[in-house]
Amino acid sequence: MGVIVAVDGPAGSGKSSVSRAAAAALGFGFLDTGAAYRALAWSVLEQGGDPEDAAAVERALDGFAFESADDPDERWVRVGGVDVTDAIRTPRVTAAVSGVARVPAVRTRLNEGFRARLAAAEPGVVAEGRDITTVVAPHADVRVLLTASAEVRASRRAKELPDEDHSAVARSMAERDAKDSRVVDFLEAADGVTTLDSTDLDFDGTVAALVTLVRE
Ligand code: C5P
Repeated sequence: MGVIVAVDGPAGSGKSSVSRAAAAALGFGFLDTGAAYRALAWSVLEQGGDPEDAAAVERALDGFAFESADDPDERWVRVGGVDVTDAIRTPRVTAAVSGVARVPAVRTRLNEGFRARLAAAEPGVVAEGRDITTVVAPHADVRVLLTASAEVRASRRAKELPDEDHSAVARSMAERDAKDSRVVDFLEAADGVTTLDSTDLDFDGTVAALVTLVRE
């Protein structure tokens, strides 16, 4: 089995872009688990289902065929062969995803797929999400909680969404974290998990700090 690097953190912590860049620097694969939850939320909406209705979510889960790039230099996400790379990042999907993610059957099923990807990764993989250090891969070689102050996270996210109102972005991020943290705890580092606080680090500095933790 290859080296497994597990990274968790709240919305806007930069875990996705930082983990991707660290994976590229290490020559490892990359797994964005949030993309799978987003893709399922997209499927529920596509089928006209209510993402707050567990039965509708379980219907969408039936036959849900998720694929995403292993290579950190590629970005594609597909559901049943349909490219949803951009479609899963819309505010509509973002607002729907927490409802989908709290359905236990969803977590069980997606976790199976994640674990199979981790087991097959050579020479290693950086996997990021909310419960990678605690549930998906609690025995990972490197376990990191990537954090940043709420202010810095909101302003980073607002930069990615220049058309949205800054305070609305901050509010929806805080609401999503509140909902998600009722399902899995990613606000506190679990035992043995290293906290990497990026509040005062720039992007390259954060990537370098993560790479250093892996090489140590
Ligand atoms: O990381 P990202 O913002 O793309 O995650 C989207 C959503 O997927 C989160 O808000 C959360 O509801 C869900 N998620 C999860 N467990 C993970 C990764 C993401 O519940 N490991």
